[in-house]
Amino acid sequence: MTIRIINKCQNRCLHCMQDSSPDRNEIMPFETFKKSLEFINQTLSININISGGEATLHPEILLFLNEACKSKQKAVILVSNGLFLKDNLMLRDNIFYLMQENKNLYIQITSVKGIYNNYIDKDEIQNDLNELSIYKNIKDRINFFDKLENGVLPIGRAKQNLKQIEKFTFIDINRKSPKCFNAYNIMASLDTKEVDIFFVVNYLKTNSKTSLCVPMIKENGDMVFGEYEDCNIVWNVHTANKSIVPEKILGACGSCYTNKTQLDNVNTYLSRFRDKHNKIDTSIYFKETSKIS
Ligand code: SF4
Repeated sequence: MTIRIINKCQNRCLHCMQDSSPDRNEIMPFETFKKSLEFINQTLSININISGGEATLHPEILLFLNEACKSKQKAVILVSNGLFLKDNLMLRDNIFYLMQENKNLYIQITSVKGIYNNYIDKDEIQNDLNELSIYKNIKDRINFFDKLENGVLPIGRAKQNLKQIEKFTFIDINRKSPKCFNAYNIMASLDTKEVDIFFVVNYLKTNSKTSLCVPMIKENGDMVFGEYEDCNIVWNVHTANKSIVPEKILGACGSCYTNKTQLDNVNTYLSRFRDKHNKIDTSIYFKETSKIS
């Protein structure tokens, strides 16, 4: 699962699916973070992404990471654009110290030339880091991604910048796509009109066909089933009632696209879905992607 603890970022990348920028002000309070961990620890989740925006801009990032490392999660992954490695050396050293103390703490840095504002050069940064004695103890748990192997999904801010990021997109934008594959997937498995949030989150964990559709908790505790700014809110971690209505799941997203693998499988799920929920008009869950630009 992902916990988005802040939506502010130093960057304003053309492809950002979170629509993050220096203008965003959402920030997660510690109480909400603790509630989120409490919830996640009761699910099948074994790792958490701590993300943003740029997560290291959260003023309590060290407290948050420390708390997450104490949870039962096998891996706590700090997701970052890597700028703190050169712009905030005190924070860098503190995070490295935490990593040394907590073997379940990892860092994932993504910065791709030509698409990320303030791109950081992986080799340059690693040369600097090699000078630090602590780095050798933790370097195996820091992963750098400087390529987008699967391209970019035209969602979030990318949707407004299709022309500029064209070479990175990997779906055919002229074909019809289902709005939310995961919604179909979940709905097709349901027999009841009511379901609880644990069932759905665990179902996604074991059945989701895409690593992009990871449930995410936002700064105020709202939960969505994908990592996009536009995904529909289905629950909030401060809500005592764990029930959610299936219609809420089907109302999810509205702007998400899906990759080829999912499209190839979608008819199977759709027919199962129709068999069980024939009163719902599934046509409203399709749209012409070519109209979005
Ligand atoms: S660095 Fe990441 S979070 Fe920040 S604007 Fe770029 S893609 Fe979005």
